[in-house]
This record gives sequence, structure tokens and C-alpha cells, in this order.
Amino acid sequence: MNESNQITVTSPLLPSLEDFIPYLQDIWNRKWLTNNGHYHQELEKALCEYLKVPYISLFTNGTLPLMTALQALRITGEVITTPYSFVATTHSLWWNGIKPVFVDIDPVTCNIDPDKIEAAITPKTTAIMPVHVYGYPCDTERIQEIADKYGLKVIYDAAHAFGVEVGEKSVLEFGDMSTLSFHATKVFNTIEGGALICRDAETKKRIDYLKNFGFAGETEVVAPGINGKMDEVRSAYGLLNLKQVDSAIEKRRKIANQYKKSLQEVNGISFMTDIQNVRHNYSYFPIFVDADKYGMTRDKLYEKMKENNVLGRRYFYPLISTFSTYRGLDSARPENLPIATKIAESVICLPMYAGLTGNDVEIIIEIIKN
Ligand SMILES: *Cc1c(COP(=O)(O)O)cnc(C)c1O
Repeated sequence: MNESNQITVTSPLLPSLEDFIPYLQDIWNRKWLTNNGHYHQELEKALCEYLKVPYISLFTNGTLPLMTALQALRITGEVITTPYSFVATTHSLWWNGIKPVFVDIDPVTCNIDPDKIEAAITPKTTAIMPVHVYGYPCDTERIQEIADKYGLKVIYDAAHAFGVEVGEKSVLEFGDMSTLSFHATKVFNTIEGGALICRDAETKKRIDYLKNFGFAGETEVVAPGINGKMDEVRSAYGLLNLKQVDSAIEKRRKIANQYKKSLQEVNGISFMTDIQNVRHNYSYFPIFVDADKYGMTRDKLYEKMKENNVLGRRYFYPLISTFSTYRGLDSARPENLPIATKIAESVICLPMYAGLTGNDVEIIIEIIKN
């Protein structure tokens, strides 16, 4: 609980200030604040190891890697994506002059439904941009089959999927590229930050040019790049936070189990369950309210929680496809997206973060049970 007695939906994982000060002192001594500095390189190395991926490029937030991935792969025309995500997914397409084509989601995983992708492909389609929503892996095998059949690239928005593994393999290894967000609200944070994961050294080089204005040398610019560089202070902060991320995920797992144990008895409330063979990161704890069975609508429950100082969030409501930029698109019609529409109208993400106490969880459960 924070000082205002409110239980918020999330609370950032912070390294100890005491541990951080020597890092700051070292950065002050080095007088090298950004542009691929010591801690930037250290964090890239540490993340490659932790995430079991060969190449990673750090960014200053999680939106720029999405935009840069599209540039690096020269994606144009139309891209197939999900309306059930944070707006940045679709915005990254729009900023690149690409038309998003929304496809409905699977009711179990809340991820893009592979069965509905082929019908949305046109001669202009060049890529698929799925999202591992709540850290639940997409059907990567089916998506790759479709991509191979039609010659499409696949860029995963893996902003929720830090540390998620399928079998022994990182979920970030699927597709052509994957992106991460290290925003303060995510499982692993650098305050603001993000990363782009690719599969070969040449591509990483190109990404690193693109995130530094396109500079390939002191006087050579090879592309219309952007400034996406992460600075030394946040890189060092990330190195420290990485040391406690496993214990944070373990705490999240225990909280998820406490929620599941109590909520399984509540009629009209459902939640997602673990998938065998997947290492989950418990980044969110969404519940889905069946108003008829529960006897109260989602919004009434959301308001009731708020009155009791529990701030859930309706992620992802409204759907991206309903916002003014996108609602005129043919694929944005609610008839095209019945499952996403229904889920968006029933979801509440309950508070979930490593520092949430068992007592807080009990308070939340009691409000939902009554
Ligand atoms: C958080 C998030 C982003 C954007 O990340 P920022 O670091 O906030 O720019 C993109 N996609 C999804 C699905 C997210 O949840």
C-alpha cells in the first residue's frame, strides 16, 4: 500500500539507492554519459545472457524499437496486427506510414488468432506484428508458417514478455525481431527504456546505426535514423535491477497463485492459467467478469474496487481499433473483432507487483468476493 492507502495496479521495482550511488560515482568519474558507453555495453551483454538471445540493442523507451524494427526491415504497405494491446503497437505502424490491419484475437491467450490471419492478407501486406499480451506466448509456430507461406516478416511486440521462455527457449527468439519495454511499470525497468532483439550481427549493426541518426562513422550517414540511445545512468540502473528480477518474478508468481486459489470459487470471474512448458513472468493478473454470472458488470466492479482504494486497470480497454486515428479503417469494425471487443469489455487487471503484500491481496480478494 502507498501512503494514500491506495493499492495501485503496479509499483516500480527499484534498486536500492545505496547500491546505486557507487555506479553514479563511477559515471561521474568517467564523464561519458551516453553514446554506447561502458554501462550501456555492460547492460547489453548482461541482458543477452539473462534473456538467452544473441543480439540486443538498447533503446531509450519501448516504442522506438518498434518503429526502428519496421525501418530496419523496410516494412511498407499493410501490416497485420492485434487491436488488443497498448496503443504504441499500432502507433509505430502509423508513424511509419504503414496501414494497420486488425485481426481478432484468441479467447484463451488474448493473442492474435492465427486462424484469422490469412483472410486479412492482401498484395500490400509485408509483415505481421503480434503481441505476447500479458506475457503469454503467441502461437509462434502457426504465425511463422503463415509468414513463410506468404513471404512476410514477423515483428513481435514482446513488451510484456521479459524473461518468458517456451521450453528452454526465450520467447524473444521467434520471428525476425522482438521488442521489449523497460518502462517503470514493466517487470524489468530502467525507468524508461526498451530493446530490440534481432538474430544476426549485420542486422544489429544496422539497428545501432538507425538508433543513432543513421551514423555509420564520424562523417557517414547511411539511413534516416532517429535518436533512440539509452544513457549511462539508466543503463547502470538496469544492471542493478537485473540482479533482483528473478526474485521479483518469483514474488509475482506467489501473488498470482494466491489470487487464483481464492478467485476460482467466485462465480462469474475467470482468469488465465499457466501453460505447461512455459516460464511465465506474471507481468499482469487480468480477470474477466461475466456480468450475468457474477451479478455485477465489469465497470461496476471496477468502480467498487476504486471506492475501496483498489485501483485496477482495464487493460486493454478501449481497443486500439476504436481510437479516432484507427476507427475509420475497414478492419477496425467491431463486427471484425467480436472476441477482442468482448474481452476488452470484461477485463480488469488486478494489482500485481513484487512489493504487493499477502495482506493487500486478501483485501482485494474480499472486495471481489462480496
Ligand atoms: C509498454 C508497452 C509499449 C511501449 O513501451 P514504452 O516503453 O512505454 O514506450 C509497447 N507495447 C506494449 C504492448 C506495451 O505494453
